[in-house]
Amino acid sequence: MRGRRSGNGHDSRAVELSGRLTTLLEQSRASQARLWVEMDSKPSTSSEPDGPSGSRTEAQWRSMLPPDRFQVLRKGATEPPFSGALLHNDSEGTYCCAGCGAVLFHSSDKFDSHSGWPSFTRPALAQAVAYSTDRSQGMVRTEITCASCGGHLGHVFDDGPPPTSQRYCINSLSLEFRPTGGADRSNSAS
Ligand SMILES: [Zn+2]
Repeated sequence: MRGRRSGNGHDSRAVELSGRLTTLLEQSRASQARLWVEMDSKPSTSSEPDGPSGSRTEAQWRSMLPPDRFQVLRKGATEPPFSGALLHNDSEGTYCCAGCGAVLFHSSDKFDSHSGWPSFTRPALAQAVAYSTDRSQGMVRTEITCASCGGHLGHVFDDGPPPTSQRYCINSLSLEFRPTGGADRSNSAS
């Protein structure tokens, strides 16, 4: 009849050890995160007109972006109609700038304009996009750019559906889609 168990001391040491390991891990993760932040905010040397992404040079953008995204976002090119990956995307989520990640449009404002480009009735926030007059190609159009990084997005026309009557005609290549909830959900609510 032995009531003594020798396992307890062992267990608590193991718990303590794993606790210390977790702390160490967290510390190293935190310092890694700091490192990334430092690296990211490094090129804030001289001129910084609109924050870090607004001050990137053409060469920096060229090295950051795939060639097709670079041509659209930084050179104002237009992707061929009906070519965009997001044209028929009906998933719920947000459309962010492919250059800087700023939230630009919501899936709830997307509609099928039959134009060949993803179309929205309004931006996610009024201040998310900037407007300017584009007189290229013998037309007078209102160009839309990302207010955060200046990347070219597309044009806006006033022949859209209610409630705004606006049609924000946007290149798929200017956008990155983030589904609601992070992962791709295949909930068919229809
Ligand atoms: Zn941007």
